[in-house]
Amino acid sequence: MLLRQLDVRLVNCIKYLKSRRGKVIMVVNTFPFCEESKLRDKVIWRCTSKKTNCKARIHMLGANVVAVKGMHNHPPRKPLC
Ligand SMILES: [Zn+2]
Repeated sequence: MLLRQLDVRLVNCIKYLKSRRGKVIMVVNTFPFCEESKLRDKVIWRCTSKKTNCKARIHMLGANVVAVKGMHNHPPRKPLC
């Protein structure tokens, strides 16, 4: 899948923050994600934009992005990268 490979390559700026509640927030290209599910080394991160029902997800295996699903339906919050 060319598109998916392209999306994975676009993930070029990942930062980790802690939310006020102590949860880990992964910021990818200025979009914040929170952990949705976890199975051993594989973690699925979902976009934190619940208001817009954003479908964007990032699948990580350890420190590597293995898949990017969906598209953001909103602009990024603020430039963090
Ligand atoms: Zn989003």
